[in-house]
Amino acid sequence: MSQPLHLRGVVLPQGEPRELWIADGTIHTEPVPGAQTICTEGWIMSGLVDAHCHIGLGIEGAVSVETARAQAVADRNAGVLLIRDAGSPSDTHWIDDEAGLPRIVRAGQHIAAPRRYLRNLGVEVPPEQLADQVEIEARRGDGWVKLVGDWIDRSAGDIEPLWPADIAAQAIARAHQVGARVTAHCFAEQSVQELVRAGIDGIEHGTGLDDDTIALMAEAEVALVPTLININNFPQYAEPAKQKFPNYFAHMEDLYRRRRQTVGKAREAGVGIYAGTDAGTVIKHGRVPDEIIELAKVGGAEFALGAASWRSREWLGAPSTLDDGDWADLVVYAADPRVELEVVRHPSLIVLRGQLVDPNLG
Ligand SMILES: [Zn+2]
Repeated sequence: MSQPLHLRGVVLPQGEPRELWIADGTIHTEPVPGAQTICTEGWIMSGLVDAHCHIGLGIEGAVSVETARAQAVADRNAGVLLIRDAGSPSDTHWIDDEAGLPRIVRAGQHIAAPRRYLRNLGVEVPPEQLADQVEIEARRGDGWVKLVGDWIDRSAGDIEPLWPADIAAQAIARAHQVGARVTAHCFAEQSVQELVRAGIDGIEHGTGLDDDTIALMAEAEVALVPTLININNFPQYAEPAKQKFPNYFAHMEDLYRRRRQTVGKAREAGVGIYAGTDAGTVIKHGRVPDEIIELAKVGGAEFALGAASWRSREWLGAPSTLDDGDWADLVVYAADPRVELEVVRHPSLIVLRGQLVDPNLG
């Protein structure tokens, strides 16, 4: 049994000075005998969440266990103690047995239509098999299924939905029957309009959101994980296609230009917005501080911090307020991140499952 720990500091989001004790992996609000004081001042909050991350995935598809471990360690060292994996070709359930690695909520493998997504990443099925595949991925994951909602259609020269709306609705209904929620990668307008109306539970990126669809998302509590640091790469992604697919290029540029306005409208409408990096292919692991800083440009520091910690945890069903009996998963900063947001780049302490994290250990 490890030594109990003791911290004193200002706990967010309430912003009140508190004392916390940690024993047996959980938070205690009454003194625990023999506890070692590891913090006497600082700003303490529930561990960060990366709500759109891919562990076990690289540009070429599945990666080795060693690489997957390094990815998870990079995320953890940034303060990310809970990950929603948004699709991976690797089975990463071995991570659940490693106390030093973040907790993961998985979505199985991306589901795409044949030759309509990046090679080696998704499982590719024709529309008539979508519902069956959704059920398979629901059983492989931990409560989420990930669809590729749209992608470039080379014959059309632009971004097009992968699934007819009625097929998508049947597949989402199937996921709900087996107790899973569905989210989808959507860059453009049509896929997100159709999938929200088809009863989907989450939207990734969502750059094509219109006002009516935003209103529907707020009403039906459909989550949005914009991955702003990934959207920042849209011009770079589209550049090689500029000559051959000018409409696609112009479309991506337009979605990119109004990205903050789009996410800002969703925030104002009351859509639940969560911090996700899309680490796994182009984006490196451990960049959730960058996503927090991008989200703050849309809704301020407190909004961005909640999107990466307490609000995201609540949405995923994880403890979020460091109360008695909660998981002892927390981060400590030397300054108030609501005032000095850049401090999120340098957590002074990270505690995962009640253990002080040593960044040098995998
Ligand atoms: Zn992704």
